Amino acid sequence: MAAATAISGVGLTLGISTSAVRSRTSLVTMAVSLDEKTNKSLTLTKSQEAITAAKELMPGGVNSPVRAFKSVGGQPIVIDSVKGSRMTDIDGNEYIDYVGSWGPAIIGHADDQVLAALSETMKKGTSFGAPCLLENSLAKMVISAVPSIEMVRFVNSGTEACMGVLRLARAYTGKEKIIKFEGCYHGHADPFLVKAGSGVATLGLPDSPGVPKAATYETLTAPFNDFSAVEKLFEDNKGEMAAVILEPVVGNSGFIPPKSDFLSFLRKITKENNSLLIFDEVMTGFRLAYGGAQEYFGITPDLTTLGKIIGGGLPVGAYGGRRDIMEMVAPAGPMYQAGTLSGNPLAMTAGIETLKRIKEAGTYEYLDKITGELVRGIVEAGKKAGHGICGGHISGMFGFFFTEGPVYNFADAKKSDTAKFAKFYWGMLAEGVYLAPSQFEAGFTSLAHSHDDIEKTIAAAEKVFREI
Ligand code: PMP
Repeated sequence: MAAATAISGVGLTLGISTSAVRSRTSLVTMAVSLDEKTNKSLTLTKSQEAITAAKELMPGGVNSPVRAFKSVGGQPIVIDSVKGSRMTDIDGNEYIDYVGSWGPAIIGHADDQVLAALSETMKKGTSFGAPCLLENSLAKMVISAVPSIEMVRFVNSGTEACMGVLRLARAYTGKEKIIKFEGCYHGHADPFLVKAGSGVATLGLPDSPGVPKAATYETLTAPFNDFSAVEKLFEDNKGEMAAVILEPVVGNSGFIPPKSDFLSFLRKITKENNSLLIFDEVMTGFRLAYGGAQEYFGITPDLTTLGKIIGGGLPVGAYGGRRDIMEMVAPAGPMYQAGTLSGNPLAMTAGIETLKRIKEAGTYEYLDKITGELVRGIVEAGKKAGHGICGGHISGMFGFFFTEGPVYNFADAKKSDTAKFAKFYWGMLAEGVYLAPSQFEAGFTSLAHSHDDIEKTIAAAEKVFREI
């Protein structure tokens, strides 16, 4: 095991393994000089020790690669507790959190109402492996909210939802080819690990070893927002396309909205070719609007995947759509898909309580207002300090890139100055702001973020932009 070296004697203390010190030199220099200017004190000793130990126990010390700090350098911060808009690490540092557990925390972390409902449900047990009334309740809420969903199947993660929906699209159409877009992430199932976003993009992996060629053979890719690339794929594969799947607003290569007409174009071309349109709304569902991106843009897909928010912070995913398609799913129909913990009472409870809250009037107006202020503030501060930067938001989902832009697809996003992002990242952390540790991930606000949080974040960004 590499010994942990505390680079101390300065306010910002980074525990970095000796073997990594050489490659981390620029980061450390940055941290020290930042500290000298800001007199900020951010001690991460306990986090560093915990991650060093974790690396012996779990690959990379984490249970999901997006949590690692590979693209920003250093090691992840270990969290002790969360509440509202804040996270506290095991060294006692508090951060304003813009990751929100990667999206679910739309009403803020550890909401009292959700916790109270969970403890009531828990008294009755944590898992039945048999039907419960809570499944009906959440299913009704999802069906009445999401325009495309007439029937729903609950699963345990976004990955499972995307695996299920793909099998269903193929079963229903009797065709096998699909189009996915470069930089979109649909979970880690084999057929989707082709030009994928999120951790795959962050780590710069083209594809993953272990994925058989046969598993991705029917996955065709096009750049996001590229009308003619999609037309050509349909022309070259006439009668063979089962579905087009996309994040209607990309969040897994940073925040990239669709060009106007791109979603209606996809709706039209899929219909003309007897293919299905699938919106992966694991991130955008209940996030952009109560009915998701499909309500926001007024385009109804055939099938939809959900996750994150509908589990209120517990593990959940779902797929749903037109009744005639969903009735193919076992046991109603022949397409097999199952799950031991699917629809479990705790996840259903957290989802129900979360949806009740965001259904209240004013939710999306508030999220849009504070998130707009946040992104405008960050981009203006960056420009004022002479940096090339662009950004955007819809409701409580946002992103910014260290490039002039515009960013329409993953290739544009990759023009970002990721080294500068890494400096910005650590600077913001030292100022008590926790962003996603990658240039290629969207950020999220919540109902628990106050105007004061936003102002503090912009002030921190102004300071850090001047220093990097
Ligand atoms: N689809 C999208 C759009 C996602 O953002 C994610 C996760 N970030 C997934 C699928 C996979 O979800 P999970 O991590 O719950 O498996």
